[in-house]
Amino acid sequence: MIVGYINRKAVTMDAKYLDTMNKKLNDLKSEIVTHLMNENEEFNQLVQDLDPKDLVDIASDDIDRRTLDTLSGQDIKRLNLIDAALVRLKNGRYGVCTDCGKPISKERLEAIPYALKCIECQALSERHR
Ligand SMILES: [Zn+2]
Repeated sequence: MIVGYINRKAVTMDAKYLDTMNKKLNDLKSEIVTHLMNENEEFNQLVQDLDPKDLVDIASDDIDRRTLDTLSGQDIKRLNLIDAALVRLKNGRYGVCTDCGKPISKERLEAIPYALKCIECQALSERHR
């Protein structure tokens, strides 16, 4: 009973909490950008070590290219979600599910600061995918 009360209270968004999440989102953003840059550096290194005639092969190597696209794609997808969350922070919609309009639990936001959907809607959309 007491735990339930605390959980319900935890979804209330105060200014200090929003500030913390804003910082978290920005930290996460720079982390991903750095990661992407490092990734590209690794890729550049790989390309540099190759014979110029092998560059043609790597450019046409679908598997290698797809692997890189998948890695970067996940990062870019997360960056888009973070940007969307930052916009929602600014217009006061942060922490509200984009699907059902209910508050997203604080626990979920702490685990995934860029979550735009509550756990129920997320599970639902994943099931439909
Ligand atoms: Zn929802």
